[in-house]
Amino acid sequence: MLLEQFPDESRSHGWIEVICGSMFSGKTEELIRRVKRAKIANQKILLIKPKIDERYHKKNVVSHQGKSLKAISVKKASEIITIWKGEKVVAIDETQFFDNGIINVCNELSKDGVRVIIAGLDMDFKGMPFGPMPELLSIAEYVTKVHAICMSCGNLAQFSHRKIKSDEQVLIGAVEEYKPLCRLCYNKNRT
Ligand code: ZN
Repeated sequence: MLLEQFPDESRSHGWIEVICGSMFSGKTEELIRRVKRAKIANQKILLIKPKIDERYHKKNVVSHQGKSLKAISVKKASEIITIWKGEKVVAIDETQFFDNGIINVCNELSKDGVRVIIAGLDMDFKGMPFGPMPELLSIAEYVTKVHAICMSCGNLAQFSHRKIKSDEQVLIGAVEEYKPLCRLCYNKNRT
């Protein structure tokens, strides 16, 4: 599979690209990979994450694999517009935790010629669309759905199964709390 369908990164107009998938599917790694490539191309980058996600490091975007880049933590989506100083690339990690204002922010930035790269969980642990992600998937030019490996059967997984008992939609965690499952194993685990 070709991960980057966008042919010309030097296009003068902006666009929105979304990287989505379950936990442990490599979303953040793919975001970091794209940001690094933009850096090599000498483009100015603004990297944003929601304030809620302090799982590994307070200031950086860190993947489960331990790769990291400096990021600015933001509480409300609208703050991104005030922080933005004309960077050609705006990358946002863990976007599912942002309020719906993020949709307007992405539209406005891309209108101003920005390449907006979004990474986020498309579904919560109940298998329901997560926060503003469905809208972002609809308005994006390019969508990449990455998959984890099902920890029960080894097939491709798109569900983030919560191993511990909690009904909160937002429960920050990693390997102890979640495991990726395919549809078949996810349904088996829920019944
Ligand atoms: Zn499975």
